This record gives sequence, C-alpha cells and structure tokens, in this order.
Amino acid sequence: MTERSSTLARRSLPRRIKAATRRVRELASIAHAVASTSHPYMAHIVPMRRCNLSCTYCNEFDDVSEPVPLPEMLRRIDDLARLGTSVITISGGEPLLHPELEQIIARIRHHGRIAGMITNGYLLMPERIQRLNRAGLDHMQISIDNVQPDEVSKKSLKVLDKKLQMLAEHANFHVNINSVVGGGIKYPQDALTIARRALELGFTSTIGIIHDGDGQLKPLGGEERRIYYEVKNLGKKHYSRFNHFQEAIVKGEPNDWRCRAGARYIYICENGLVHYCSQQRGWPGTPLSEYRRQDVQREFLTEKTCAPNCTISCVHQVSYIDHWRAPQTSKISPGLPPSGSVQDQDLVQIQLS
Ligand code: SF4
Ligand code: SF4
Repeated sequence: MTERSSTLARRSLPRRIKAATRRVRELASIAHAVASTSHPYMAHIVPMRRCNLSCTYCNEFDDVSEPVPLPEMLRRIDDLARLGTSVITISGGEPLLHPELEQIIARIRHHGRIAGMITNGYLLMPERIQRLNRAGLDHMQISIDNVQPDEVSKKSLKVLDKKLQMLAEHANFHVNINSVVGGGIKYPQDALTIARRALELGFTSTIGIIHDGDGQLKPLGGEERRIYYEVKNLGKKHYSRFNHFQEAIVKGEPNDWRCRAGARYIYICENGLVHYCSQQRGWPGTPLSEYRRQDVQREFLTEKTCAPNCTISCVHQVSYIDHWRAPQTSKISPGLPPSGSVQDQDLVQIQLS
C-alpha cells in the first residue's frame, strides 16, 4: 500500500462528510455571487504583519509588529460579514503567530462564511491542527518554494515535510500546497517534486508564479516554462479551472481582463484599511468600518491600469465570476492617489526587501 493510499484509507467518514458539506457551501457562495454583484466574494485579512521567516522576494512582512488585538479582529470580521463577504482568508505575515487565531476563525464560521488561511506551516503541530479543526477552518494553503532551504526562502520541503505528514494525519480541512516558479527560485524542478509529494499525501496542488514588488509581470525562462506545464499536467483534476490567466503570464504577455479588486476581492491590512490587493496598498485606503456597498459598486466598475500585467492569482480567479458582464466605466492608476481618498497622506507602498 502506498503512503497516499494508506493516508486516504485513514480518512474517516465524518471527514468526507465535512468535505462534501464544504463543497455545497462553496457552490452556494458562487451561486450567490453570480446572482448579485454588490458584495465581495473574497477578502484577505492580516491579523499580524510579523513573520517568523524572511523570504527575500516578499514585501508582506516585518519582524516587529504585534498581533492585532482580538476584539478589533472580531469587529473587522463582523464588518466583512456586514458587507456580505463569502470567503474570508487569513494571511500575513504569519497568521499562526497570532495567539487567538482560532477565535478569529470561529467568528468567521459563526457568520456562516468560508474560512481559509495562508501559512508557511512552520508552527503547525498536531495539537494546533486539532484546534484549527475545532475552530471550523475550511481551507489551508501552504506555499513551498524549494526542496532545500536557501538564501531566498526557507519554505522548503525538507523542513516542512514533517508538517505535511501531520496535516495528512490530523487535518479535517482542505489543504492545498502551492509550489512556485520565477522570482529567483534557484531550481525550477523543485516545483515538480513538491507537487508530487502534495498529491501523494492526498492534498491538492497548484503552481504559482512569483511576482515582483509591484505585482507585475516577469516572463518565465525556458526551463521554468517546461516545469510549469509539467506540474500543471501532473494533477490536472486538482487544479483550479480558473487559472487560464497564467498562460499569458508564462509567455510574458498581458492579460485582457477586468480586475474587480476593491469590490469582489478586498485586502484588509493590519491597520484595518481596505486595499485593492497586497501589491496595491493605499488604494482606496478606506477604513473597513466605513466601507459600504456603494464603495463595492464603485470599485466593481473601476478599471485598474495595472491589470494587463498583474500576476495576483486570487484576484484573477475571483474576477472570473463577472468576466462576462459589467464593463468598467471609470479608470484608476494605482500609484497615483485617488482623488478624495481619506488615507492619501498616511499610506506608502511597501517595497521588496
Ligand atoms: S512569503 Fe510568507 S513566509 Fe515568506 S516572509 Fe513573506 S509572509 Fe513570511
Ligand atoms: S490589477 Fe488589481 S489585483 Fe492586480 S495589482 Fe492591480 S489592483 Fe492589484
């Protein structure tokens, strides 16, 4: 019996029922999004900016900040629920450093929303995984950059394989392992090794393209392209069907799409401000507590001039929901402050370290 089949055999009936229920909730959320354009489908929210690692391509962490206090985080989750957000994903920094993470997840589920998190996985232990189960976590994504740690990234299979085995044993939630190419990753073939291991353990697997500090396009080299397609073909049925935009990115070509950031997708920083995405912080820069359906509707119809070369996959995927409708009627160039923004003076874009 292979490791994967023995892992699958250990999966209990309740775990499968939970997966089926989750799928039904997801399909309902998609149907709701198709029926109405006036609510966000997905929000990423940062409960702390600090990270226990320091990947050199990353501009989304520091090594000093404190956790956002729990009452404030709960208020922000309530605000996202008020806006009608379907999927709330906790990111960072490193979310597992937040001591009350499970209570934040439980609040998301209290509102009936889909709860996800993105983590580097370093702090996972069986007991913590059980706490995440009890809190009602639906999805976890771990991005693994290489097989052996190097000066660019310590998110390596060598270090994290034990954590993946713990997840295979204990997690009741869906786990996706994302491997990457581009952005200074030394050995593109590592992505293949990582994807194979993910499938072997019964997880899903995706492949991402590392973007630069502006979230903008960098064409892949020949070997990177070859590995990208090989990984993609490896577990075709596990891949998101909404990743066609990556084809153009691989070739270094612009994408023709409508970015619905600020509307279907919003990014909430540790200061509680709404931003288009992790790479365009400062626009619109409105406090979440003051964000209204009118703001969602305005941003839904606002073209972002950074869209053609954008590599932010979650925003591409969420924007597919409305690809066929609602042409955008106004335009903004993030980088130039939008007129009337309340936070113009206070916000700066965080640059690549
Ligand atoms: S990529 Fe993730 S693990 Fe690496 S420094 Fe950034 S937040 Fe931390
Ligand atoms: S196109 Fe949208 S998601 Fe991409 S960088 Fe611009 S605002 Fe962010």
